[in-house]
Amino acid sequence: MKKKINRRKFITLAAGAGAALMSPRGFGNQILADDVVPDRGVSGVVPRRVFGKTGVTISQLCLGGSSVAGADSPAVLDEALKQGVDCWEIVSFTGKAYGEYFKKNPDVRARVFLTAKVYSTNPTVMQEQLDKVLNDNETSTIDFLAVHVLDNVEALNDDVRKWAEKVKKEKKIRFFGFCTHKNMDECLRRGADLDWIDGIQTFYNYRMQSIGNMEEALQKCHEKGIGIFTVKSMGLCSQKKTELQKLPLNEEKLNSLLAGHNISFEQAKLKAIWQNPHITSICSLMPGTAILLSNIAAAKDERPLSTEVRKLLADYADGTGRYFCRRCGACDTANADKIPIFDIMEALMYSRGYGMTALAMKVFARIPPEIRSKIPDSDYSTAERLCPQQVPIGQFMKEAYRELSG
Ligand code: SF4
Repeated sequence: MKKKINRRKFITLAAGAGAALMSPRGFGNQILADDVVPDRGVSGVVPRRVFGKTGVTISQLCLGGSSVAGADSPAVLDEALKQGVDCWEIVSFTGKAYGEYFKKNPDVRARVFLTAKVYSTNPTVMQEQLDKVLNDNETSTIDFLAVHVLDNVEALNDDVRKWAEKVKKEKKIRFFGFCTHKNMDECLRRGADLDWIDGIQTFYNYRMQSIGNMEEALQKCHEKGIGIFTVKSMGLCSQKKTELQKLPLNEEKLNSLLAGHNISFEQAKLKAIWQNPHITSICSLMPGTAILLSNIAAAKDERPLSTEVRKLLADYADGTGRYFCRRCGACDTANADKIPIFDIMEALMYSRGYGMTALAMKVFARIPPEIRSKIPDSDYSTAERLCPQQVPIGQFMKEAYRELSG
């Protein structure tokens, strides 16, 4: 049974303690986990937080790996460094942007905390993928290497542990962990018990702050010294933007209300996450200096969100909650035709939320034809009953079939 805590109550409680946790100290410095720095208003550089038991401090804003896929990536990297965003993520879309930047600026690599992923738990494959990442990025070490993406921590068996220890000894990596984008609360809770794990990257955003199990799992990770990166901080919906626009509190109205508080919706979402002291860094997609600077401004302003802004966020989350998949996985086995409801919900979110329709269509095309053909007429009543967000799953499956079939 999932425990729920009231969203407004959480944000109110977190506001007092969260944003003040860490200070802008140098990379590699150690800070005690309970070290609380008083509220200092606006900082000169992006504040830093300690990455779990490693004792290393990193910027609380991390440059998402897809941010540097464009031609202006050197300008984005220059600005990130200047403003203290020295935690950079590598994903498959990153290409050789960091490698080329390090070649041109040889002193920079030592100033950056690099995170990367492997897409397997087979030691041979992990080794090949790690070696490629090292080569592509012109570096001999990855600071944090994570297995992407786990919904069951049992995959982290003894072979994985031994391999992680081996590459740590060889100094090819410094720290090890995993990413979770589904069934996150359980993965976090169980991951916290693995004493050979240093960090976890998890799906998390302002909407998740009302889920008691998730908050407790993050707290457990913090207590066990596990550093936490968050991804998908915008909490986008699987609903069409034109439909969301018809709601009484839609994004346009929300933005105009937030403008009166000198903050954008995106900045407010980031600040809500930072108010949770158990989070180390938000990994954010920042393709271009305008978005980067906007996020940096939010990070530098360490004042807690006002009561009015917190209420607006909570009202929007409530009003759009049935269009948001919280990735609990409860619908996975709730359909007799084995329709991959979770994957389709995610594909819809990528297509409608991020405009990444080609990627969504690729995901959809991977569904075996004999299952795909059953999508429009399958019975989703059990899945809808189990869904904690009360998502109109049947409606979304039919719409996905029409929009993503190609
Ligand atoms: S049950 Fe609902 S919230 Fe959970 S994964 Fe399925 S659609 Fe998402």
